[in-house]
Amino acid sequence: MNAPGVVYLVGAGPWAPGLLTLRGAQVLGRADVVVYDYLANPELLRHCPRAETILVGEGPHRKTQAEINDLLVELGLAGRVVVRLKGGDPFVFGRGGEEAEALAGAGVPFEVVPGVTAAIAGAAYAGIPVTHRGFGPTLTLVTGHGKADQDPIAGVDWAAVARMSTVALYMAARNLPAIASALMAAGRSPETPVAMVRWATRVDQQTLVSTLGEAAADAERAGLAAPMTVVVGEVVRLRETIRWFERRALHGLRIVVTRSAGQSGPFVERLDDLGAECILLPTIEFAPPRDAAPLTEALGRLDTYDWVIFTSANGVDFALDALRAAGRDARAFGRARIACIGPATARRLAERGLLADRVPETFVAEALLEQFVAEGITGRRYLLLRAEVAREILPDALRAGGGAVDVVVAYRTQAAVVEPAALARIRRGEVDVLTFTASSTVRHFCDLVGPEAVAALQARVPALCIGPVTAETARDAGFRVAATAESFTIPGLVDALVAWRGGGAN
Ligand code: SAH
Repeated sequence: MNAPGVVYLVGAGPWAPGLLTLRGAQVLGRADVVVYDYLANPELLRHCPRAETILVGEGPHRKTQAEINDLLVELGLAGRVVVRLKGGDPFVFGRGGEEAEALAGAGVPFEVVPGVTAAIAGAAYAGIPVTHRGFGPTLTLVTGHGKADQDPIAGVDWAAVARMSTVALYMAARNLPAIASALMAAGRSPETPVAMVRWATRVDQQTLVSTLGEAAADAERAGLAAPMTVVVGEVVRLRETIRWFERRALHGLRIVVTRSAGQSGPFVERLDDLGAECILLPTIEFAPPRDAAPLTEALGRLDTYDWVIFTSANGVDFALDALRAAGRDARAFGRARIACIGPATARRLAERGLLADRVPETFVAEALLEQFVAEGITGRRYLLLRAEVAREILPDALRAGGGAVDVVVAYRTQAAVVEPAALARIRRGEVDVLTFTASSTVRHFCDLVGPEAVAALQARVPALCIGPVTAETARDAGFRVAATAESFTIPGLVDALVAWRGGGAN
């Protein structure tokens, strides 16, 4: 027989991926099987890219609790490292206790990793502290849904609950009318404020504030259904002052990001912070040049140039990787000076241990050119390391000015493999704004999405662009460009989005 494995009962938190604990992420990283349910955000599975995953939640995948217990025991006894990933906290109305009992009974080692429970997180994201010294001394967690064979609310002493200051209800969507009546019958005022929070911590979290007397009717009118948590008590009044979630500058805005997967990280993180929902459609990815020889040759004579010019962070990466692959390092630049077209390129260069001698204030080729003109071009030698397809303005102008220019392809862009769900969503038009960070992203976006859906989007959805060149490409392709970043950078594009949103757009 195998040595038994281990089962981690892990709280996934309410939904937002950042609310998983560090311990949770750590054990996911070492799991070989993950058993998760529908209230656990599937995005968390990126912490366990190599694990087998089993969904045991709603719908066709539904298993009974006894079946889940048996599955965990079986996997544990087979020597597997198992994560049982459960929404919120595993021991708060999550039946994690039953799973732990089964594991203990079968002698399978296990560990419990607590999680952020839905009602507390939902209240916090609604701007409601579940306890506050000004509003009473207790927090009571109650289920509004008992065991299947029982009267759902008969098992609770509602008269006792009614006397508690803050009451947080789980699984109460269906029984809200009966629960509210029971609390009022026990003497809780119909004026008591109530907050109902649906899909807490998700970008589309809905929060509805009402009173005990009106909550059930209001919820029905608003079509508010499970999963939601309900907070009853005077603390709900603090929401007016403390609400923060909906106040973020890009709250709820559905933004299509067309950057390559490798480059979109910081952009997406910033948009997330501002409350936007990013729909990732990486249109391009980067690859080494088809013919490596010209790059290798140019890198072999770097110190014969007066200027080596980088036009993108990718160019830096691919060129320096190729240099390294050829067994050489930064000393190969010798006396050559280095120019970058913009600060992001210069930053990447600095990360790789080289400081640019020249970075223009505005980030287009023309600005760089002006500085070359000012010091004199005639007789100088330039190496331009760049993408396969790029504008000719810089080399043309340098040559016209009497310079010797080698233009060498450091990398090329190619269409990316996209996620079907994101593509389908964009085709259905479930987006508010498109972002383009390079002309190539415009072209590849149109190819990926297809002419019909593109036409429908163009009629309704504005585009924001990183700079004038990209904006022109987007306009030529038929997009309505609502704003362009002033600084031609990603932070500039974020600023443009915020200004555009603030201007009452959307
Ligand atoms: N163990 C979970 C609770 C599971 S019971 C926890 O600690 O949060 C299921 C109930 O939890 C739902 O009916 C709902 O009341 C609440 N719930 C879970 N996730 C939620 C979410 N994202 N938003 C609002 N309520 C949620």
